[in-house]
Amino acid sequence: MINDITHTSVEPDWSWHDANGFKRVINVAGTMTGLGASVASVPEVARETAAATERFVDMHALQTLASDTIAELTGAEAGCMTASAGAAISLAVAGCITGLDPAHAEALPRNPGPKAGIAVQMGHLCEYGSSIKTGIELAGANVRVAGTATLCKDFQLSAVLDDETAAALYVVSHHVVHYGQIPFERFVRLAHEKGVPVIVDAASEYDLRSFLEKGADLVIYSGHKFLGGPTSGIIAGRRDLVRACYLQNIGIGRGMKIGKESIMGAIAAMRAWMKRDHAAIRAQENAALELWLDALRGIPGISAYRVPDPTGNPLERLQIDVDAEKLGAGAPVVVAAFGQRDPAIIVRGHEAELGYFQLDPCNLLPGQAPVVANALREEMMRGSWRNIDAEEALASSRNGGTDGYLHWLS
Ligand SMILES: *Cc1c(COP(=O)(O)O)cnc(C)c1O
Repeated sequence: MINDITHTSVEPDWSWHDANGFKRVINVAGTMTGLGASVASVPEVARETAAATERFVDMHALQTLASDTIAELTGAEAGCMTASAGAAISLAVAGCITGLDPAHAEALPRNPGPKAGIAVQMGHLCEYGSSIKTGIELAGANVRVAGTATLCKDFQLSAVLDDETAAALYVVSHHVVHYGQIPFERFVRLAHEKGVPVIVDAASEYDLRSFLEKGADLVIYSGHKFLGGPTSGIIAGRRDLVRACYLQNIGIGRGMKIGKESIMGAIAAMRAWMKRDHAAIRAQENAALELWLDALRGIPGISAYRVPDPTGNPLERLQIDVDAEKLGAGAPVVVAAFGQRDPAIIVRGHEAELGYFQLDPCNLLPGQAPVVANALREEMMRGSWRNIDAEEALASSRNGGTDGYLHWLS
């Protein structure tokens, strides 16, 4: 389904929000857990999800179908589905520790044994709503940090690739440090020289094949980011290790189990991805970017331009640099002001402290791009910023993710 997201004659549909009393939101931030992650990429995703809710099925058979679909999509030997990519990290780590030993799997996280280290470059120890360190440690593993925040040397990684290390984890994300880290192919070579398998967290990457082609043993993707499936995670890779990941359902995996409806919805999303008209979707996104560029032309203190995705995903965003002096407010305040509108416009503001924010067109729904364009002009011309406290707005770009949980029901 290709929606005409930029068409001015299409009214956004808020009936569901209104009927449930939810605040109307437009997502120009990207794939955000706090906004419900993604929407179904095609109607079949919703249809297959719904069909599964009304039937019983042998779950091993369903996971076999998922494995076949993941193999076709990624080129992996095998695959399995998990509750989320976050869960997949814990389960992949656990699988590398226990192999196919059910007693060992049952002993996690209490008693992981002597070979439970996970080697990670310090610059890759990021957070995506929770800390990746927590995800690793949930399996009973201990993180063996290589290097410093901004530099990892080969010998520093090699030093933690010993008999106590069960796997090495490589993270591909805009969240990680983007210089001074060991490049992927070299990371794989160093790990394999010591007989250590490599897990890749590529949760948010469009590139579904090259990490495996370049030697990764397990690769993790999110089913609900660009794939547009229901909330789910994908583990793809070596058959023996995928089986060991799946075995964790008798242990720590139980609290992270995925339902039949999410597996079927994710399979539909993977099938749709293989048939997707990527060029047509890109054209839609480009039209939205151009619409917004137009809306911002000639506003003093604002300079807007298209930027590529930092990890090489084939998409562009609109970057908006804010000259606080000329505009009368800095980027964190502008980000907060958009969030206070009705509908709330949630922009990509995690780097607002650097004086800019971005608009991501990939999750727009029909009729929403013009609403954003109007809001851009209105908000930027306003000149008064509704008593938004600049220091609080800045603090919120770091703490907001936690504060939302703390303030819930308070
Ligand atoms: C989003 C993300 C995750 C978590 O994915 P979920 O499927 O939402 O749990 C993990 N790692 C990275 C790098 C991510 O971007």
